[in-house]
Amino acid sequence: EHIYKEFPIHSMNPFTPSVSVKAVEDASIALYPGRATALVGESGSGKTTVARMLARIYDPTAGTMRFRDEEVKYKGRRAASSLRAYRRHIQMVFQDPFSSLNPVHNVRYHLSRPLRVHGHAKTEQEVTEQVLSLLRRVSLSPAEQFIEKFPHQLSGGQRQRVAIARALAARPEVVLADEPVSMLDVSIRLDILNLLTRLKDEEQLAFLFITHDIASARYFAEDTLVMYAGQMVEGGPSDEVIQTPKHPYTQLLLSVAPDPDRVQQVIDHGNTAVPTRGEIPSLIKPPTGCRFHPRCPHAMPICSEQKPARTEVSPGHWTHCFLYDQPGENSQQQQRTPI
Ligand code: SF4
Repeated sequence: EHIYKEFPIHSMNPFTPSVSVKAVEDASIALYPGRATALVGESGSGKTTVARMLARIYDPTAGTMRFRDEEVKYKGRRAASSLRAYRRHIQMVFQDPFSSLNPVHNVRYHLSRPLRVHGHAKTEQEVTEQVLSLLRRVSLSPAEQFIEKFPHQLSGGQRQRVAIARALAARPEVVLADEPVSMLDVSIRLDILNLLTRLKDEEQLAFLFITHDIASARYFAEDTLVMYAGQMVEGGPSDEVIQTPKHPYTQLLLSVAPDPDRVQQVIDHGNTAVPTRGEIPSLIKPPTGCRFHPRCPHAMPICSEQKPARTEVSPGHWTHCFLYDQPGENSQQQQRTPI
């Protein structure tokens, strides 16, 4: 809830002051079992930093994180002791299947390690049975043929399936998937998204799906959040955000994306969803007011002076923009219990 992250940059020159990069400001995310939330934005928007804070790879500079209604202790004496227990529930799948597996270890090693670390298997026989079961859950079959293979003997899609199986080995409740298909061959992107969809539905996993591709967000995630320059600018049910985008930045993202209704075409060309006009501003000294105002075609004088508040434009669909300063008529959100 309302988490912030600044990265200090210390100057070695006594005449140049140290500065900090305001990478994430006031980000709020709730994740739910059996549901995916997509975090969409350009490179440098802060979406990976948010995921790394949720994974506790980075600690927030300020703000509160809750898991199962309890505050996550990321500062003070209890921070280290709670880390291992927390990480068991929250696993990451990274973008690059080629660097996420250690080339000197085989599949058995990669999957048995989290099983042992988290105490899910003790004897050699238990480990083997569970590794085979994990391989079947990610549709690497016959599993017996994959268990002794090394990363260089696997295709990119097979490596990503092993990386997903490794995340599942910890028996997490939440999976943070950081651009899990963007480095894969176009012919297998949809297969991996379908695998993640099956795991989400059948195993009731909560997903945070990080992507720059707004169309695959719609395909996989029930909810979409759009980030710009470290801030969340729009969010809501994916269909609504993509069919009726309100924030000018979301509109810009969609204007350069292939047709989001044609999922196969979009996933085949998923790397093209990058706005062509302007760049994300420096986060050392971000623009005042609305951070999008230097690029916004609708900017008004107030936009550079004040930060727009969150406005609900329809049930569950909100944005931060002065173009929508009237709250929606029906602002009641559907109630779910977040993880
Ligand atoms: Fe554009 Fe102003 Fe809305 Fe920001 S607040 S997106 S500058 S209209």
